Amino acid sequence: MRAMLWDILPNGAIQCRLCAHRCRLKKGKKGQCGVRINNGNEMTSLVGNVVSCAHMDPVEKKPLYHFLPGTKTFSIGSVGCNFTCSFCQNHSISQIPDTGVVPGKRISPEELARLAEEQSVPSMAFTYNEPTIFFELVYEAAAIAQISGIRSILVSNGYMSTDCLQALSQRISAINVDLKSFSDAFYAKYCEARLQPVLDNLKSIKSMGWWLEVTTLVIPGLNDSEAELKEIAAFIRNDLGENTPWHLSAFHGAHKMANYPATPLTLLEKGWQIGREAGLNFVYIGNLSSAIGGNTFCPSCGALVIERHGYEVRRTGHPGKCPSCSFELPGVWK
Ligand code: SF4
Repeated sequence: MRAMLWDILPNGAIQCRLCAHRCRLKKGKKGQCGVRINNGNEMTSLVGNVVSCAHMDPVEKKPLYHFLPGTKTFSIGSVGCNFTCSFCQNHSISQIPDTGVVPGKRISPEELARLAEEQSVPSMAFTYNEPTIFFELVYEAAAIAQISGIRSILVSNGYMSTDCLQALSQRISAINVDLKSFSDAFYAKYCEARLQPVLDNLKSIKSMGWWLEVTTLVIPGLNDSEAELKEIAAFIRNDLGENTPWHLSAFHGAHKMANYPATPLTLLEKGWQIGREAGLNFVYIGNLSSAIGGNTFCPSCGALVIERHGYEVRRTGHPGKCPSCSFELPGVWK
């Protein structure tokens, strides 16, 4: 498929404008994501209409806790990624071997939107692998689904270009962005990427008005120091706002770190405390059951507003309004 967002340079190379890597590709070369290729006169996407998996998931699984809680989202993944995270929990689809064969099924955006409508769900999510790199499918499917009132969600590493964000600005309703660390050295060593574009994009996304939640996968010994968790919490508080939900998620051995120790609950609870002390109103613990980190409490009076057990939501009244003091909670509730 002919790709979008690229330019031909005077020397004949192609400059990709889809993500912050901004790869410059000579003829026949693929970008860092491995799924966009300079085919001579144009850039081709190898995954523009390739779907590797499609499931009905609770929206809480993305995780989004303040966006249509208790609903299902039609969740779609393709293959490939612009990061190479050593700890990737979906590496079987994100890190495909360069054999020339792209696994998955070709599905048109019209068909995806039709499938979502058939399921009577209020949203579709582009997830499982990085949606930026199957941009063409997201761009088309989100626009078609929007006509039927179906909203679109991204689950992303936040490394898209400004051009990509602008192109999607009117088509996406909510996003969960991984803020994997507050260290550029961490991003370079474990993901072959940089921190600053992610921070810049988080601020842009907030100002664009998409509903935004942030996730940090806490890995023992790598990004779990009190100082680093405080830096992340302070950034969210100061640059994204006290009402931006922060999910602290447990790592389990995966990919190149399959034998690495899992995150203990005590570590996530320490992060939860740090987030709350930094002034964040909504800090959550994910991938492990926690007495303090699963529910939503009213920031005004402290009453329980949304009770969760795993991905199951047990509401207490209107999810967007405190049943005790009627405080209106930030989020998208209907
Ligand atoms: S999407 Fe990113 S990694 Fe892939 S070719 Fe474009 S700039 Fe490079």
